Amino acid sequence: MPNGKREQNIRRIIEMEDRICICKRCLALTQCVRKPSLGKGDLDPVIMLVFEAESPYTADINKIIELRNIIKDTTGIEKIYHTYMVRCCPKSCSTLQNTTCYLNTKLLDKEYNCALSRSRCNGIPVRPHNEDIISCLPFLLEEIEILKPNYVFMFGKRVVEFLLRSYGIFDEIEVGHAYKHEDLVLFATVEENLFKASDLADFKR
Ligand code: SF4
Repeated sequence: MPNGKREQNIRRIIEMEDRICICKRCLALTQCVRKPSLGKGDLDPVIMLVFEAESPYTADINKIIELRNIIKDTTGIEKIYHTYMVRCCPKSCSTLQNTTCYLNTKLLDKEYNCALSRSRCNGIPVRPHNEDIISCLPFLLEEIEILKPNYVFMFGKRVVEFLLRSYGIFDEIEVGHAYKHEDLVLFATVEENLFKASDLADFKR
């Protein structure tokens, strides 16, 4: 990629990330999120990996490295970037559920201490609702449009379903199947914690 184009991509990604960091479309989610999940990796990617939202698996950098290495070794492709369909992962939290007053503010400090319980946040990450996905999906579509990967690996049924539908693809969902949208190949695979090299058996460059 020419240098000017790369710099333009970096500028556009930073500008989008700034908007994600101040986004309040899902106010109830942002209260318990210190920092939204942002994409990481090669900014001129051949493959973009898309996870549903942050989870104990994706929060473990060693697991992400292991996953990326499996993909590199199996496909021979080095330039990989990973990102999320929902940036503010919802949490299940009894403290918040038992709170009657409505606070229009972030509840976590830099040390992840909760303003309500005055102790470290013990909320449990849970799956986003469909409405959260619909609210956040435009950021993912924008990220794909900026970085223009050749392939998008969709991890898990919900990522596959929402991303394909947003490109107007209503075919039956099949794990291990590649779908085309213009120059982009969208490859459907299992959730990241279940992924293994053999899941790429049908992947073709
Ligand atoms: S989940 Fe996405 S759309 Fe909702 S507040 Fe966070 S960044 Fe905004």
